[in-house]
Amino acid sequence: MDVDIVCVGFGPATAGFLTTLSKRSVNADGTPAVESPTQPGLPPQVLCYERADDIGFGVSGVVTRGRALRASLPDLDKAGIPMAAPVGEEKVLYLLDPVGASRRSRTLRLADSLIRATQWALPFEHAAVELPWTPAFLHKHGGLVLSLGQFMQWVGAQVQSTGTVQIWPGTPVAQALWEENQVVGVRLLDQGVDKAGTPGDGFLPGMDIRAALTVVGDGPVGPIGQQFDAHFGRPEDHHARDWAIGMKFVVDLPEGTPLKPGTVLHTFGFPEPELFGFLYVHPDRVASLGLFVPSWFDSPTRTAYRYLQHWMLHPYLWRYLQGAKLRSWGAKTLGESGRRGEPHLVGDGFARIGEGSGSTNVLTGSGVDEAWATGVQLAEAVFELLKAKKPFTQQNLDETYVRRRRESWVEEEGRVAEKSRDGFQRGVVSGMLGMVWASLTKGRFSLFKGPVPPHARLKTLEDYFRNRIPPEELAQLRKECAIKGVSLHGTLMHRCGWPAIPYDGQLLVSHQDALLLGGKVQAPPGYADHVVFLYPNLCEQCGTKICIEACSGQAIAPGEKGVPAFDREKCVHCGACLWNCAQPAPGNPDQMNIAFRAGTGGLHSAEN
Ligand SMILES: Cc1cc2nc3c(=O)[nH]c(=O)nc-3n(C[C@H](O)[C@H](O)[C@H](O)COP(=O)(O)OP(=O)(O)OC[C@H]3O[C@@H](n4cnc5c(N)ncnc54)[C@H](O)[C@@H]3O)c2cc1C
Ligand code: SF4
Ligand code: SF4
Repeated sequence: MDVDIVCVGFGPATAGFLTTLSKRSVNADGTPAVESPTQPGLPPQVLCYERADDIGFGVSGVVTRGRALRASLPDLDKAGIPMAAPVGEEKVLYLLDPVGASRRSRTLRLADSLIRATQWALPFEHAAVELPWTPAFLHKHGGLVLSLGQFMQWVGAQVQSTGTVQIWPGTPVAQALWEENQVVGVRLLDQGVDKAGTPGDGFLPGMDIRAALTVVGDGPVGPIGQQFDAHFGRPEDHHARDWAIGMKFVVDLPEGTPLKPGTVLHTFGFPEPELFGFLYVHPDRVASLGLFVPSWFDSPTRTAYRYLQHWMLHPYLWRYLQGAKLRSWGAKTLGESGRRGEPHLVGDGFARIGEGSGSTNVLTGSGVDEAWATGVQLAEAVFELLKAKKPFTQQNLDETYVRRRRESWVEEEGRVAEKSRDGFQRGVVSGMLGMVWASLTKGRFSLFKGPVPPHARLKTLEDYFRNRIPPEELAQLRKECAIKGVSLHGTLMHRCGWPAIPYDGQLLVSHQDALLLGGKVQAPPGYADHVVFLYPNLCEQCGTKICIEACSGQAIAPGEKGVPAFDREKCVHCGACLWNCAQPAPGNPDQMNIAFRAGTGGLHSAEN
């Protein structure tokens, strides 16, 4: 099939692109403002393929200053989008450890003791201290608390109602089509195959969609973006080594909650100092809350789900959450390299937008507005080229799209943020210092060295638990878990003093129950496994097996001969396994021993 433009993924970046292009393509009287080169007399023919089973199922994100969104959608605040509220009270909280199990450095323990000793003089309550001063870069004053899923459903309907764009959810793009270095479209995923991709009954090869321009907006772990990176490499000194998994619950708060819509809480310090938490309040007593587990948290048993439960149980939060009910949940990777992870943005026949193009601002913790803005910039460039009847060559895209991007606030602020997280490679205190320093110096100077790939700093189980669990006992616990076929983190956290989770069947539920909740995780049959262990021999020798511990959906479990087993039906498509691996692939320290490819299914919720 031939079209003018094909888009990969429908996240905020592509939504910004399609919103702008669809508005520009048609005049007020319905005639085309620019003509389709493939179908003269019509506006440009644009198709967008989204992997997730419906629009808004594959996204996340909540609080945004909404600068780019409002510039494109002036009526946004009056649009009545479900779950949207203006930002109200904002707080940043340092959570102390009320359990005594958290792994804190000496400096942090000293700081904790000082805080406890002087709590009478501080804004201290329920084992937490509110920062008296919140750095300006963290503020979202004037912004919006949104459900990105609800927003994407709304914006998807707006875009399609123009009649100039078709969005196809449940349709993963398997690969880009190349002719030499020119991208000429995409190929969709094969259907009717077994787990290994071998054709069976009802085999339907993925359709080829040929287009003059392929727009890649497939997010931080998108397989098409990965193919481009493998093909072109990254510009010098650019690398994607900083990641985080964000796990999020959407909950009904108890009746009579004192939390007002628009409330924004950010936390750090607990359950482990490295983990950042958030709680944002929507209208009608609904809240989005969750935890980020970064790649520089060295624990080889970094489980977002279990840590999120301990976080909710912190006294500061539990007083709001006791009696709350889980509506839906999800997890998604955040590409934390920001501007430094920027790939080659354009080439002959393609352009990259959004988080996968390095747009996310790691200083302000903001990605939605930035992704949207890059989509708008590309749409303006495409309109300019179509109008001038110029082809989508690397040079033309460079002079229109990349130029706009370089001149924009996304670039300016991305540069300030570029090295702001480097201090975290040395610890939380230096990390915080580094962020404040980056903000004060406008990113001109960095106090710390840049990051190494996650596997290069990951400790072995033996090293990480050296002072807590004797090696013989660790070996025994490991053996017992292997016999039971379960991950290790529950056992090891229990051994290190973390109390059992008091399941209440409504907010505190087992990981397995969360997966089943309302049939929220699904995987249609007839597709190949999208998570693949590239070199099974490396897995056999791998003692850490962090892929099992970190899996957001319990989709990776102990398997035969030491090679983990993947269960597609539990996969929430968070992409965390891509970077949560203890071994590099041979010959490429920035590629780990696991592949995260295009796949169907995943979460069935548009609340995230
Ligand atoms: C838990 C969490 C909380 C966050 N909170 C905030 C926040 O409060 N504020 C903020 O500004 N930012 C936040 N972010 C960051 C923000 O979500 C991202 O920066 C933003 O969504 C990036 O937009 P994008 O369009 O580039 O990519 P994405 O939102 O990742 O969208 C990419 C889309 O492409 C689809 N896709 C991937 N591969 C394929 C394929 N092969 N074929 C077809 N489709 C494909 C995906 O399913 C997805 O829908 C948060 C992120 C996480 C993980
Ligand atoms: S995928 Fe990576 S972490 Fe998992 S067992 Fe293999 S080498 Fe180890
Ligand atoms: S297997 Fe699926 S759920 Fe597990 S980490 Fe990978 S993408 Fe996430």
